[in-house]
Amino acid sequence: MTADPDCLFCKIIAGAIPAQIVHDGERTFAFRDIHPQAPLHVLVVPRDHAPNAAATAESDATVFAEIALTARAIAAAEGYDDYRLVFNTGPGAGQTVFHTHAHVLAGGPLPMSAG
Ligand code: AMP
Ligand code: ZN
Repeated sequence: MTADPDCLFCKIIAGAIPAQIVHDGERTFAFRDIHPQAPLHVLVVPRDHAPNAAATAESDATVFAEIALTARAIAAAEGYDDYRLVFNTGPGAGQTVFHTHAHVLAGGPLPMSAG
């Protein structure tokens, strides 16, 4: 497992910073966004640190697929068949945390951006 000691989401995964955890898997992890933009707003992340979605897909495409499947399972468990996945890449697109994360949004008028 690779972790970046300065990364907020690595610290959440390690349990060093508290979060409302909704999924604790072997390769993926998920917790509620601290500033929710919709009734369901969860962040799904790979346990391994990588800076963005493409970097995760490049290092292991199966983990990237698992993020999509984890997102669907979380939405379904919370009663949502329909949801939006957002991956911001780069500050110009609104990325503020440089550990790959999928925003899972559901339950109302959904923003096109999140974060
Ligand atoms: P992004 O802007 O796409 O990089 O998304 C980062 C997201 O992380 C934002 O939606 C923040 O609200 C969220 N966030 C920041 N700090 C925390 C935290 N400690 N716990 C949960 N979510 C957080
Ligand atoms: Zn990280």
